[in-house]
Amino acid sequence: MNARKPALKILLCAPRGFCAGVVRAIDAVERALEKYGAPVYVRHEIVHNKYVVEGLRKKGAIFVEELDEVPATDRPVIFSAHGVPKAVPEDAKQRNLFAIDATCPLVTKVHREATIHFKRGREIVLVGHAGHPEVIGTMGQLLKGAVALVETAADARAFQPRDPAKLAYVTQTTLSLDDTAEIVGILKERFPAIVGPHKEDICYATTNRQEAVKRVAPRVDAMIVVGAPNSSNSQRLREVAERAGCRVAALVQRADDIDWSVFGSIESLGLTAGASAPEVLVEEIIDAFGARYEVSVESVSAADEDVFFPLPRELRENAAE
Ligand code: SF4
Repeated sequence: MNARKPALKILLCAPRGFCAGVVRAIDAVERALEKYGAPVYVRHEIVHNKYVVEGLRKKGAIFVEELDEVPATDRPVIFSAHGVPKAVPEDAKQRNLFAIDATCPLVTKVHREATIHFKRGREIVLVGHAGHPEVIGTMGQLLKGAVALVETAADARAFQPRDPAKLAYVTQTTLSLDDTAEIVGILKERFPAIVGPHKEDICYATTNRQEAVKRVAPRVDAMIVVGAPNSSNSQRLREVAERAGCRVAALVQRADDIDWSVFGSIESLGLTAGASAPEVLVEEIIDAFGARYEVSVESVSAADEDVFFPLPRELRENAAE
């Protein structure tokens, strides 16, 4: 007779997984494939998730890192949800490429804020992580030197503006709310005239997913965040779980990545997914635990979400062919 499996309570964070910007970007590639046929070029991973990228690749998407990898073609070239430096659409135009911009509208909003600050003569501080495509895209909206990157509280303390009376800040959309509040607090204390966004640049999806993790993390033995290592919002969720008192918090791409020497002897598990991770991967993880434990699942909700972004203009139903 089989031994009884040990009990495991899974607290499922809600909201989790796909945000409206990711849904829009993936739909844009799928719709472009339907409308124009394969292949369709995509600059950078459309969203930071291997499973999603592989699925689109099988349907005929060709992923490139830079436009110079795209041959002379009339095929659509789609820009990823993270946004691109201004030079990229300009280059596409010069080469007569058919560009479709799937930048999340909430990233575009930050680009606009930065541009307005620049036009008003302000030096701009971007709070974000060096090397992330969103940061490269936001810095690339303006001339070199117009935007200074601040990554940490120490950077904020050391930052020397050209003129403290003409200073503004914007932030990456997927940062830790708590870290950003600290960094912005330092900037405001040092430079009381600094101008910031009317509403936080950190997006609703990042905010809600972090809030759900904060509620769940102190109640569980361990937490799994389904997401990719290069996904900023997923990395932040793992950190938020740790800081909220969870002993073990791991970023996991697929069930195969679960370290059972750590997750094989727990009584409760928190589970969430970054904004670029599909729900099917969350289900795969629950099934993997179900094979080893008698699992019961409870959902813990921090917010209801009903945000929807329409497709890029070229791909809407009534768009001219
Ligand atoms: S995480 Fe936020 S900013 Fe990024 S794509 Fe999703 S909604 Fe847009």
